[in-house]
Formats: sequence, structure tokens, C-alpha cells
Amino acid sequence: MEKLRIAIQKSGRLSEKSLALLEECDISFNQGKRLLLAQSSDFPVEVLFLRDDDIPQYVADGVADIGIVGENEVLERNRNVDLVKRLGFAKCRISLAIPQDEEYPGPQYFNGKRIATSYPVILQNYLNEQGVNAEIEQISGSVEIAPSIGLAQAIFDIVSSGGTLVSNRLKEVEIVTHSEAVIVGTPGLSAAKQKILNDLLFRIETVQRSKGNKYILLNAPNDKLEKIIELLPGIKSPTVMPLYQEGWSSLHSVVNEKEFWAVADRLKANGAEGILAIPIEKMIN
Ligand code: ATP
Ligand code: MG
Repeated sequence: MEKLRIAIQKSGRLSEKSLALLEECDISFNQGKRLLLAQSSDFPVEVLFLRDDDIPQYVADGVADIGIVGENEVLERNRNVDLVKRLGFAKCRISLAIPQDEEYPGPQYFNGKRIATSYPVILQNYLNEQGVNAEIEQISGSVEIAPSIGLAQAIFDIVSSGGTLVSNRLKEVEIVTHSEAVIVGTPGLSAAKQKILNDLLFRIETVQRSKGNKYILLNAPNDKLEKIIELLPGIKSPTVMPLYQEGWSSLHSVVNEKEFWAVADRLKANGAEGILAIPIEKMIN
């Protein structure tokens, strides 16, 4: 039977979340010790563990059918892959930073300067766009120390909180691009593989939808029911069940996590009691 081969990062910032995402979709792997290629017994997929740098190439060549990788690596490797889905984790930006005490007049600052980076392709594209002539010093790690050791006058690197920059006395002056984990795919997958991919995407969307929502239960006096039902958006309409105590009902519904506190306040103000919110594991509309 046909299988979909998924490339994920072997070890690093994306590995755990990539595997967790598959596990939440009830796709697990029988890997006693970490094999290079792990099989799933409950879904027609196998996982290939790679350095994140190599994932775009493996997917472009069709050695892996899809891959979970940072958008920054997709941009840097510039391979022929389809962007299938944004995943919303490993969010960061790729920015230019210079020593804190330097004045920054704009991108012309970088004319004639040397910039250290692990992302020469993305940086060169940006410099071309801006009409800036700078020298790129490609290094593979610890980019942030390059200015203090005299290797470069500026850096172009991943930033998330900015803490690393501050502790190296650097300041972020240009955000060149944003990045998050994405699924990329080989263009023109076979129909059988596309079907497996669609099933996988359906599961991912089901899990992501449920994560943003809470199952909510509450008790309400019957004479306030109508008002309270208005306050509960729910999937279609809430479930109402009589309580043993006369004149009271129990209501069940679904509330978006972001709205939970606001909704709970209004429910309380309208006579609801015993409000419970419970995580939802799967949610299919
Ligand atoms: P590999 O050994 O696989 O080549 P790596 O060292 O190149 O790993 P990691 O540091 O594990 O890469 O980062 C993997 C990806 O996670 C990056 O390409 C980026 O998309 C994202 N990422 C990196 N640093 C951060 C951060 N501080 N915050 C959020 N996302 C990040
Ligand atoms: Mg890497």
C-alpha cells in the first residue's frame, strides 16, 4: 500500500512540535531507538528524520513527499516545493541587527559593511531590492557574536524575543521577513498520496480547531434560560437538560477560548452558576 513520507527535523527546535502534531492526529511511531525512517502502524505514513537544512531539497526531489520545516529554510534553499499549510508554531523573524550604539539612518547603512549570516540567499535578495552593496560573511552558527569578535559589522539572523541581541549589545533595525513552521510538498503528488495528505490535513485542522475552543457546561434557572442561550454561540445551538432540582437546567456548548472570560462574565451576570470549561480533543464541524 502507498505511504506518504514526511520529512521532519531530527533534533532541534521543530522536532518535538512536529512529532507532537502528528501524535495529536493519532499518528504514532514504533521507534524503539530513533531510526532514520520510522513507520506508523495506524496511518499510511512514514517519517524521515533530517537536518532542517536538507528538508526543502528532499521534498523538491520527491525523496520525501512532504516536510515540516521553517519558512526561512524554504526561502533560503529556494527549491521547487509547494507551500501546503502554515502551522503556526516556531514563529520568528529574520532581521538585520547592528551594534547598539550605532546610529541607523536606513538600509543605506549597510553599504560597504560586512554582514554575518546563515541566510545568504534571503539577505542577498533583500540587499538587491534595497540597492545596497554589502559583503556577506556566511557562517553556520553563533552569528550573534560576529560583531564583537570583529568578523562582521552587522548580522542577519533569526530573532524571536530579542534577548540574544540585547545580551550581545545589538539592536534589531530591519525585519526582513517573518517565518513559522510550514508543511511543504512535492509538486504533483500521485492521487494516492494526495488522498493521504488530504486526510492528514483534515486531521490537523480538526485538532487545531479544537485547541481554540472549550466545552462549556453551566447551570441556569429556567426563567433565565433564553437570555443565557443568546450568550452562548455554540456549534449550532446548546444542549439543555433538566436538573434534578426543579426550575433549573444544565447547558452544554462550545466557546472560543479567546472569548471565554468575556462570555463567562456575562453568563454569571445573567444568573448562570457552576460554570465548567473543559478542553476539547477533536472537533469536526
Ligand atoms: P539542524 O541541526 O536541523 O540544522 P538548526 O540548528 O539549523 O537545526 P534550529 O535552531 O533547531 O535549527 O531551528 C529550526 C527552525 O526553528 C529554524 O529554521 C526557525 O524556523 C525556527 N526557529 C529558530 N530559532 C527560533 C526562535 N528563537 N524562535 C522561534 N523559532 C525559531
Ligand atoms: Mg539547520
